[in-house]
Amino acid sequence: MQTVQFFKTKKAALSIVSSLSNTSKMPGLSWGISAKLCKTGAKLAKMEGTVCADCYAMKGSYSMYPAVAAAHGKRLEGYNADRGAWVAAMVRLIDGQECFRWFDSGDLQSPDMLRDILEIVRATPATKHWIATREVMFVKTVMAELYPAGLPANVVIRVSDSKPDAKLSIDRAGITGNVSQVYSKHAAPQAGAHVCPAPTQGGACGDCRACWSKSVVSVTYKIH
Ligand code: SF4
Repeated sequence: MQTVQFFKTKKAALSIVSSLSNTSKMPGLSWGISAKLCKTGAKLAKMEGTVCADCYAMKGSYSMYPAVAAAHGKRLEGYNADRGAWVAAMVRLIDGQECFRWFDSGDLQSPDMLRDILEIVRATPATKHWIATREVMFVKTVMAELYPAGLPANVVIRVSDSKPDAKLSIDRAGITGNVSQVYSKHAAPQAGAHVCPAPTQGGACGDCRACWSKSVVSVTYKIH
């Protein structure tokens, strides 16, 4: 049984959620957890040539700084302690944001986590949500159960390709309607994909909102 809670203040909500990410790149806040917990990603990391074998979230500030690891741990603890309270707290913190990114690090841990995030999406209709994931089966399961006719208008789930320079797979793009890809340093970006402009604009999104746009089927990023 989930707890129904309402949070009058953001401070009270943060006592449940612990923290959100506020990266210099993004136009809004994000939530992420340790990439060491990725389920499909852990399998892919053992396979040479996959994006996960050279995961950016396992390098640099995402993994080298104890404070980041501790923050990721506390976020997951907050989620696991009381999912109902966590959903209510996240709604309190996200409501009013133009856009929100899920999983700047890490990935969905279960179908329940996706159900909970979609509950937050439903409760924050003025906020655009972007969920990046490799957990295809979680997505298929929850979409069939909750949204067989299509996801809500304010959420884009981008199923991430496993290998750099892969051509757009129509099957993969058909799961949610949106995918993300990467291209390597010595290859051209995938034809037809929106090429992330962040590297040419100081590492920031600026005015670009392609990742949150359903009409942009594929976004491709230069590999880190
Ligand atoms: S494609 Fe646009 S919205 Fe997505 S990360 Fe790059 S700059 Fe940001």
